[in-house]
Amino acid sequence: MNIIFGPIHSRRFGKSLGVDLSPAKKQCNFDCLYCELDPAKTMPEQDEVLSVEKIVDAIKAGLAEHKDIDVLTLTANGEPTMYPYLSELIDEINKIKGGIKVLILSNASTIGDVKIQQALLKFDEVKLSLDCATQKCLKKLDRSHRGIEVENIKAGMLAFKRKYDGPLIIEILIVKTLNDSKGEIAQLNEYLLKLQPTRIDIGTIDRPPAFDVKPVSYEELLSISRWFDASLPVYITSRKKSDISSFSYTNEEILDTLAKRPLTHEDIEVLFDKESQKRFQRLLQEEKIGRVSTNGVIFYKKV
Ligand code: SF4
Repeated sequence: MNIIFGPIHSRRFGKSLGVDLSPAKKQCNFDCLYCELDPAKTMPEQDEVLSVEKIVDAIKAGLAEHKDIDVLTLTANGEPTMYPYLSELIDEINKIKGGIKVLILSNASTIGDVKIQQALLKFDEVKLSLDCATQKCLKKLDRSHRGIEVENIKAGMLAFKRKYDGPLIIEILIVKTLNDSKGEIAQLNEYLLKLQPTRIDIGTIDRPPAFDVKPVSYEELLSISRWFDASLPVYITSRKKSDISSFSYTNEEILDTLAKRPLTHEDIEVLFDKESQKRFQRLLQEEKIGRVSTNGVIFYKKV
């Protein structure tokens, strides 16, 4: 039973050590079609619960072994906010973490609960999933436990955002035919314009899930990113399946593209051919293109 896993290196966070709040088995109130864990019956709360002391001891041992950790990432074989002592746990971690940041990855199912909001306020960074804006989609794609309502999730996120000063990242996992329609994205867009999160990460299935569901391509993710309002910082996280050919863009086309949707350096490397990348650099030097940083991700946009 490994509570600590990693470290994992990431360009955005640096060196991250994972903390699994349900190492013995999957304990989740969702059973997402894209989950990489084996399918399991959903449950409203954990029935196998670790003590705070055991988790903190494991973290101390992990930090003693890996001296150069930048971030501790709380997650689970399932949903970490189902851990009943989350508030006590984060209090203890905050006492020992020193300069290390603490991040939590949650499916957002419990964010309507004020006690969960209060626990999450103590994290340096919060990442919440929101695959669906409608109950029908939540039931079909995330296969949520009975009683979990998307409207409660949406209201809970808004209430949390009003109180939270740290970065709030929303993650949307796009699955072919399940949440990739213009209608579903339009409803997500309308909601996210109200929420104004720090960043919206959109990705797709990267590894084979338990069920026969299909990813969308990078090209489709790019189109979907353009259905969101251009003011929203949408970051495409999956580029693995990209077989897109880069194209030649004139100066005007580069500026027009960046006016419609700010892009990251990785997007530019995929989309623009070598000459267009040089044109892009010149426009950057001429300050016709500006940089905006959202929590470690740099976007380029038309000034
Ligand atoms: S919320 Fe996460 S752990 Fe739970 S079923 Fe979905 S992908 Fe799996």
